[in-house]
Amino acid sequence: MTAPAFTPTGIRFENIEKRYGSLYALRRVRLEIRAGESVAFAGRNGSGKTTLLRIAARLVRASSGQLDFLTSGGEPADFATQTGFVAHATMVYDELTAEENLLLFAKLQGIADSSARAAALLDEVGLSERRKSLVRTFSRGMRQRVAIARALLNEPSILLLDEPATGLDPEGITWLANTLRRMRDAGRTILMSLHGESEVSALATRAVRLDAGFVAADTQTGANLHSILTFAGA
Ligand code: ADP
Repeated sequence: MTAPAFTPTGIRFENIEKRYGSLYALRRVRLEIRAGESVAFAGRNGSGKTTLLRIAARLVRASSGQLDFLTSGGEPADFATQTGFVAHATMVYDELTAEENLLLFAKLQGIADSSARAAALLDEVGLSERRKSLVRTFSRGMRQRVAIARALLNEPSILLLDEPATGLDPEGITWLANTLRRMRDAGRTILMSLHGESEVSALATRAVRLDAGFVAADTQTGANLHSILTFAGA
């Protein structure tokens, strides 16, 4: 087996708060996620899941608190940690082909040998045969595959996925679960927001429920995984 091209990395949220005006999207969030954990975030709409993932992706800055990336030994990482973010709205360009989307983002990220990397990732997500098709013609599941391939371009050690299972048909859910299982088994850390239980939530090694920006339950501190994922109103 070849060594992974990424360094396994954990992540620590230390008293993270995020305010939008007078509204608190996140309040005093303290979580330490070890390298290799797969964490499912549950909670009602508006409970702060997307904000937490966007802060971890460094797309949004916390109003206060500290975000640290950790080595597999739990020490603050002194290397540049790569994260890959898959947003709920998959943010791929409709008027480009699958391949053109990947080449564009590879170029923007300064990825060396972008053609080979795009080809390998299209193969990884099962889109090689459709690489020349416009994304406009793709189903949600296929767009999701392009978005996942894009998130993997920079060999991230941490994958962040916002509602990746929403809107997928059963075949898409199975594909997603198998793909994330490969990512998890390769040592990647996964943080994902989910609604309810599915083949995808079955991959989670830990579940956390947010409520109005607070961490309301965590399997790490004794909560039950099933009850977090099926919490009424989640
Ligand atoms: P979830 O992903 O759990 O649905 P979000 O993180 O999207 O929750 O939202 C948490 C809270 O922050 C909500 O009340 C939402 O309206 C608010 N919020 C999120 N982003 C913004 C923003 N850019 N400006 C103002 N309020 C926001």
